[in-house]
Amino acid sequence: MKRYTISTDDQCIHYEVIHRPAVTRRIHLEINDEGNLRVVAPRRMRQRAIHQTLQKRAHHVARFLVRARAQQQDLQDYCYINGEEHLFMGQRYPLEILQHGQKAGKVDLIAGSIQVRARDCSSAGTKSRLENWYRQQAQKHFAERLIVFGQAAPWVGDETPPMRLRRMKRSWGSCSSKGLITLNPHLVKAPSSCIDYVIAHEVCHLREHNHGEAFYALQEQLLPAWRREKAHLQNKGHIYLQM
Ligand SMILES: [Zn+2]
Repeated sequence: MKRYTISTDDQCIHYEVIHRPAVTRRIHLEINDEGNLRVVAPRRMRQRAIHQTLQKRAHHVARFLVRARAQQQDLQDYCYINGEEHLFMGQRYPLEILQHGQKAGKVDLIAGSIQVRARDCSSAGTKSRLENWYRQQAQKHFAERLIVFGQAAPWVGDETPPMRLRRMKRSWGSCSSKGLITLNPHLVKAPSSCIDYVIAHEVCHLREHNHGEAFYALQEQLLPAWRREKAHLQNKGHIYLQM
């Protein structure tokens, strides 16, 4: 299906168009299964007119998307049961929940599944073990990538920049004026190329604190494919934020 794009001040919104005979006068907004915008238009309405209407109301469209994605998330709540698929570094893995004598429990990625072994196999218990595991994996992987990008960036000294994890609802990362990088552990569910994008972005903020031209030049240098990864997070990010 053909995709079109409108833009607001700070984001691009992609959309697809379908025509339904029952829709006679105005366009309707929906989201598809992937959380992207679908515009349902009257049968005779031209693409040009659809596009102009959407672009004029781009802020309204952006707000609609935020709300609709949140609702979609609600519908897809995880149950933390055997076989349910969860994301890790861009891949889906089924949960394999095994009763195990030890109270502390253990989570491992083994043979294509996320194996959770614990005495308490309840949904709540599995959820909290899985959250801890994501956090540990995020800590390990992000730290490794931060070393790589720190070394690739000439403006970063010999020491790897300090990093901490913090769960956030809308942001993947930030960089304080003192150079402390904060990363969202949910990001570990996204493909590694997206993780690299966020880390490279924050490493650029160590030199340039705002999003000026100089900042984008650094980002281009450190991760030339940043646009693609940014777009992926904008379109699919809500899936990784779901827990
Ligand atoms: Zn930034």
